[in-house]
Amino acid sequence: MSELRARFPKLHMPEGLVRQFLTPPAKPSECVFAQTTQTLSADVETRIEPCQFGGNPDCSSCGCVASMGLAAVAAHKLAGVIPVGAIFRASAAIGRSRSKRRTPAPARVHQLPVLR
Ligand code: SF4
Repeated sequence: MSELRARFPKLHMPEGLVRQFLTPPAKPSECVFAQTTQTLSADVETRIEPCQFGGNPDCSSCGCVASMGLAAVAAHKLAGVIPVGAIFRASAAIGRSRSKRRTPAPARVHQLPVLR
C-alpha cells in the first residue's frame, strides 16, 4: 500500500494508517473502531457484535480502513507524549463503570456468521 500510495496520489493514506495494517488489533476489545461504534442489521434493531463483521472476526486479517484509521488516531501521541489511545481507554473505562450503575435496556443481540 505504501508503494501504491506513492504511485497514485489520489490514494490518500497517511503512513501512520498504512502501518496499522501491519499490526491490526489482536481482538475486538482492543479495536477502537469496534469499541466506539454500534452496528445494526437492516431491521435497525438487531445489534451486530463484536464489530461490523459479526461473529468471531479474525482481527489479524482485518482490512477495514476505518478500523486502521482509528487505530492510527489512537497511536498518535499528543504533544509527542500522551497516546490518544490511553485517553480513549481511560474514557471507555469510566463510561463502562458509569453504565453499570444504570439499568440497561433489553437488547436483541444476534451473532451473524462470518463470511470468508
Ligand atoms: S475484525 Fe477488524 S473491525 Fe473487527 S474488531 Fe477486529 S480489527 Fe476491529
